[in-house]
Amino acid sequence: MRRWWWLPALLVAGLLPWLPGLPLFWVSLANTIGISAIIAVGLVVLTGVGCMTSFAQASFMGFGAYATAILSARYGLSPWLGLPAALAFAALGAAAIGAVTLRLSGHYLALGTIAWGVSLYFLFGNLDLLGRNDGISDIPPLSVFSLKLVDVRWSAGLIWGCVVGVVVTTNHLLDSRWGRAIRALRGGTLAAASFGVNTARARMLSFVYAAMLAGLAGWLYAHLQRAVNPTPFGLAAGIQYLLMTVVGGAAFVPGALLGAGLVAIVNDRLQEWLPLLLGTGGSYETIVFGIILVAVLQLAPEGLWPHLMRPRLRKRLIVEAEPLARRARATGEILRADRLRKNFGGLLAVNDLSFTVAAGEILGLIGPNGAGKSTSFNLLTGVADPSGGTVTVSGCDVTTWPARRIATLGVARSFQHVKLVAAMSVIENVAIGAHLRGSASPIAAVLRLDRAEEARLFAEAARQLARVGLAEYADQPATSLALGQQRIVEIARALCLDPALLLLDEPAAGLRHAEKQALATLLRRLRADGMAILLVEHDMDFVMNLADRLVVMDFGTVIAQGQPAAVRSDPAVIEAYLGGVA
Ligand code: ADP
Ligand code: MG
Repeated sequence: MRRWWWLPALLVAGLLPWLPGLPLFWVSLANTIGISAIIAVGLVVLTGVGCMTSFAQASFMGFGAYATAILSARYGLSPWLGLPAALAFAALGAAAIGAVTLRLSGHYLALGTIAWGVSLYFLFGNLDLLGRNDGISDIPPLSVFSLKLVDVRWSAGLIWGCVVGVVVTTNHLLDSRWGRAIRALRGGTLAAASFGVNTARARMLSFVYAAMLAGLAGWLYAHLQRAVNPTPFGLAAGIQYLLMTVVGGAAFVPGALLGAGLVAIVNDRLQEWLPLLLGTGGSYETIVFGIILVAVLQLAPEGLWPHLMRPRLRKRLIVEAEPLARRARATGEILRADRLRKNFGGLLAVNDLSFTVAAGEILGLIGPNGAGKSTSFNLLTGVADPSGGTVTVSGCDVTTWPARRIATLGVARSFQHVKLVAAMSVIENVAIGAHLRGSASPIAAVLRLDRAEEARLFAEAARQLARVGLAEYADQPATSLALGQQRIVEIARALCLDPALLLLDEPAAGLRHAEKQALATLLRRLRADGMAILLVEHDMDFVMNLADRLVVMDFGTVIAQGQPAAVRSDPAVIEAYLGGVA
């Protein structure tokens, strides 16, 4: 039933407008809401889930509208041919604009899209091809065989049919390997990139997808209105679409429908009431919407939807699936750091660090706070660029590789400051670790052809979660766990990559005694399995009992290395840790 909800929804969309006695005014308003909702759903993917704010969605709607207008009104082609053209034009426009704009992030990206919104508006109004400010009129209506869909009630069926389709495909996309990648952008790009997610591509994917939905809306709009001009594709409209998404609840697909409905109805009322209150002239509704936007951001930054419905994480049915193929275990040296250095301005955080880790070995990297351990991790995993020296993984010089590429060699890590995505369940976070072990494309996801692979990835995530002893928390929100347990979730995520080399930054911090023992047992088992493990840890007893060798750092420099027993009694180490008291 749950999977087929859209069938009754389609029926309702088609039949409801024909309800006897329903004023056509309401049907028209519903059409406006439906078209806006399609754009707002795109913004959910882009802004709510992917954390990229765009004010330019109205421009992409314009791309779609003008594309179909030119083909059908100027060249007499069927309006149905305008649909692929509208989608393709919006997608290409977004890809081109995204290529130069998506390097920006946060507020700068938002400002960039404002600039595009303004300039594209003037472009629409100044191109002869597009009819300048008068636009293009005499656009034919959509027709099915000889039936022309001129009646708003027919259009309502089509528009809301599209809304249902868009909601379905968007849910499919978000519930897939690439959807997880987009959702993981919320936790910053660092953690996702460390598991091989091409974060730039994930950002581009959501930008192009949102633009294509806007293009679809533009196509519907052009054939409904039968005329286009630049006005509805300007910045004011772009602001309104963003407002709809934010009011409804930017992270929720149903929120987009709610927001589109509310804003369209308020807009309609304001058009009527404001002139009565303030006299005619001036578009004061923009000011009112500005005030509403600020109020929503202050009072309910999550939007209205989560206040109406407590959003619940979907429980995942873990199905038995054949195990993913395992990496052939390498032997011998896995990691080599050679005279690795890192300067932060005048501070030498890592100074000529050299060591190796072999398969089936646990190397402990220890030292007082600020010694440079976490920085070393970042240099080894491609998160930060070394100022000097080289890093070699399984014989490859990876010194200049980005984190995403180093992950492909089977290098997985956990973070000292836990980087799980709060809006995702524990098992979904763990599944990000398996990103590189799947290959389904976003198109396969939208068409739901990725189910077998998804089952394998989730079965693997469930297996690793069980391995670290947290199976019972699979469906909880990741951040509802104690901090110590969240570190263990990060280990399960790392194990999902099937790593040859595992780097753990203070995994035992915040664990109780019994949990530490369980972790030690797990790490011993991984070592016996042939994994190379680099361990940064503060708990001396923990590392001393576990590590085969230790490297001790202080002020960025190695002050001792060797067997734990020898290191423990080294005077330089005692001096560094106890300030010479012992
Ligand atoms: P550890 O993990 O051993 O406690 P870190 O590697 O985090 O130490 O830090 C080593 C030194 O580098 C510290 O003095 C810290 O303040 C400095 N440092 C770390 N990251 C940065 C950064 N991004 N910019 C400037 N200084 C940094
Ligand atoms: Mg640290």
